[in-house]
Amino acid sequence: MPKPLLILHGGAGRWRAPKDRIDKALRDIYNALEHGLRFLKSGSALEAVVEAVAYMEDSGSFNAGLGSILSINGIREMDAGVMDGYSMRIGAVAATRYPKNPVRLAKVILEKTDHVILAGSGADFLAERMGLEKMPPPSNDIIRRYNELIEKYKKGEITYFKGNIELAKELGLLDTVGAVALDQDGRLASAVSTGGVWLKLPGRVGDSPIPGAGFWADDLVAVAATGLGEVIIRSMPSIRLSILVHQGYSISKSGELILDYVTRMCGLNTIGFIAVDRNGEEYIGFNTEHMMIAYGSFDKKYAKLLSRQ
Ligand code: ASP
Repeated sequence: MPKPLLILHGGAGRWRAPKDRIDKALRDIYNALEHGLRFLKSGSALEAVVEAVAYMEDSGSFNAGLGSILSINGIREMDAGVMDGYSMRIGAVAATRYPKNPVRLAKVILEKTDHVILAGSGADFLAERMGLEKMPPPSNDIIRRYNELIEKYKKGEITYFKGNIELAKELGLLDTVGAVALDQDGRLASAVSTGGVWLKLPGRVGDSPIPGAGFWADDLVAVAATGLGEVIIRSMPSIRLSILVHQGYSISKSGELILDYVTRMCGLNTIGFIAVDRNGEEYIGFNTEHMMIAYGSFDKKYAKLLSRQ
């Protein structure tokens, strides 16, 4: 009998926020965990990851849903993905502006369409037609942060077009969200949601809607990645981890090998990921300064801001 398990992340990067903001994010990720665990008890791994991610989207503490960052022209375009390892069905949305909860739109695509990824206006159209809640305007805090960044950008203090990877490392604002779960029937699922990276070009699509890059779930393993989308798409950590586990490597060995590989190929401060296998073993790894996580089985629960050793 598998031991049901839910693991969440609140982004790999550099948490430089004031203590009260970090404390609020820790409370929010812990509450998201408890919320997701209720669905894990009564429902499936798929429901648990979607509900936990939707809770984090609504909290405003993370770069997803209400807390989504703004692109260079001040708009929000969000990505999300969800995969049910049992049915191997996937739903993902790219550069969507309409829904308050992009992860719920991803679930609609998984359950009700024959497609895998919908992007832009098509995704927004479906969200509206399905009666999903509409995203309210960005908070004052997000607008203030955006204005500060644009000012710096105009003064040449942000060298955006020298490479947005460097920019994202510099800003260190990668507090995106993700979840992986194993339920009591041995089914695995993963979900991710993000506003992307600050000052991205409109139309930019990160790793979060790309199966095998930002997320994956199958019969043996569920994975959710976070970090620089461009690096994650190039290195495909989620599908690599599944392949290694299918070849017989343990989940922790597979995770270590992939973290080493991405760090060697793309440098430090680029990636973090969480994974669970069908035996309830987990892997949590990152090469950034921090990663916020929450871990929960029915008898043990905690939320932590992890720091790189
Ligand atoms: N991976 C996300 C993206 O690049 C950002 C993050 O994980 O924080 O869109």
